[in-house]
Amino acid sequence: MIARACWLGLMVPLALACAAAPRVDRLFTGGTVHAAGGARRLEIAVREGRIVALVEPSAASPWRRSAAEVVDLAGAHVFPGFTEGHGHYAGFGAALEQVDLVGTASLDEVIARVREAAREVAAGEWLRGRGWDQNDWPEKEFPARDMLTAAFPDHPVALRRVDGHAILVNARALALAGISASTPDPPGGRILRDAGGRPTGVLVDAAADRINAVIERPTPEAIERRFLLAGRRLAALGYTSIHDAGTSRTELEVLRRMQRQGNLPVRVYVMLDGSDDELLAAELAAGRSLSADGMLAVRAVKLLADGALGSRGALLTDPYSDEPGSRGLAVTDEERLAEVVQRAGGAGFQPCTHAIGDAAVKTILDVYACALAPDSGLRPRIEHAQIVRPEDVERFARLSVIAAVQPTHCTSDMPWAPTRLGPERTPWAYRWRSLAAAGVRLCLGSDVPVEDPDPRLGVWAAVTRRTPAGTPAGGWNAAEALTAAEAIAGFTSGAAFAAFEEGWRGTIAPAFAADLTVVDRDLTAVAPEEILTARILRTVIAGRDAFVAGGTT
Ligand SMILES: [Zn+2]
Repeated sequence: MIARACWLGLMVPLALACAAAPRVDRLFTGGTVHAAGGARRLEIAVREGRIVALVEPSAASPWRRSAAEVVDLAGAHVFPGFTEGHGHYAGFGAALEQVDLVGTASLDEVIARVREAAREVAAGEWLRGRGWDQNDWPEKEFPARDMLTAAFPDHPVALRRVDGHAILVNARALALAGISASTPDPPGGRILRDAGGRPTGVLVDAAADRINAVIERPTPEAIERRFLLAGRRLAALGYTSIHDAGTSRTELEVLRRMQRQGNLPVRVYVMLDGSDDELLAAELAAGRSLSADGMLAVRAVKLLADGALGSRGALLTDPYSDEPGSRGLAVTDEERLAEVVQRAGGAGFQPCTHAIGDAAVKTILDVYACALAPDSGLRPRIEHAQIVRPEDVERFARLSVIAAVQPTHCTSDMPWAPTRLGPERTPWAYRWRSLAAAGVRLCLGSDVPVEDPDPRLGVWAAVTRRTPAGTPAGGWNAAEALTAAEAIAGFTSGAAFAAFEEGWRGTIAPAFAADLTVVDRDLTAVAPEEILTARILRTVIAGRDAFVAGGTT
């Protein structure tokens, strides 16, 4: 193409122009590019997965001629590819596979919804759903199993009631779980039976445990399917990468195989499950790694210091304000945390520790201070960092610890968090502005599937500290909000730094990976209300479309 243009042109200036515009795979034109140094009209030239040049529109003609494909972005805004800075990749896939049965008005409707999903699921694999409520059905009674068994002869089916306290299964599921007419009711559970004593397929409370035990061991094929499903969904939301907060052994094997086969839908930054000693021993000995295509990085270890605030599992220094007898749970004791942090650090792996309560945050800061050299360069992370004492904000910064925070946790928790914490500690909660002002680097995410991973919700929550419905007016402890630009940075450059990627992705710049999130408006400049209605138009990973709105990619 270039050669022919030059040949036909036979003119020196054109030849020079050709020389200045090497052949590129794609040229993205007509977009406002949020590059380092500000947003402006630029064309992005991409070759072999990387940005080779950012071109002024006035100088773009030769690039357009040399590009194998010219993509017109028609005035859209181009951000560095978003990163889900803390999510559960396989868990998200598993959640997506569950059929949503909320609001079904009859068992027929339940079956219709499950049948729709069954088309995507191989025979023999579980069909799972959640949310039915027989009180919404005309007969208002627990269903008999025969309809479900007749409708799904090839798949085991498990459908959880809206409250989670009963599960509806078909004959195949009962057989896999070894439940028959002769199975007695377990303590704390009930197997509903017909007049002849046969299980109907409704299992109440502890009777569902045997089903859960069979379901919770997904095959590598099921895990791969979930990664594909979740990866495609993440790409459709604008994400180019996910930090996987606690990758299991089998999941890592599947991720590696998918990477080798070129099948990973998004980049994955693995945090190894730090509770699995065998996994740690093997991976720490093998050393950290980044695949040649940059799709899979293994160099971090996930630990848990405490539980969650909602269930009063977050570890607090002083008792819960609404439960004076409880301070929460130390999920992993300090010695074990120190031991794993030391082992990980010794092998050059980054420690990433879930710590929500102020006591857990303090403990893990102590551990990092003791177990890691100040100049270790390991960029230790605290995941969630939801309640941080004033003196620990400073320590966070001094120890160069990264705060991996999820803005939607704040907006989900704010209705009841003050009751848990009381007036003195409430200002310490979700204190992103305090952390940023102290010099702490932020990495933003959603904790999918705990929260909806839609980055628009994350940016909205970070900027407004209000629910999507707009409450409370003025925002909850709004002094701790971030600006939209800071929030976007948390999902892009901040997340890249938290994964040691800031030298090759997270910013739109020459030589960087061509990871782009194309949005119909300027998320950093519009009124906050317009963030929620923004449209993700295109997601580009390593130069290729991972998602195009209205397209088939
Ligand atoms: Zn998590």
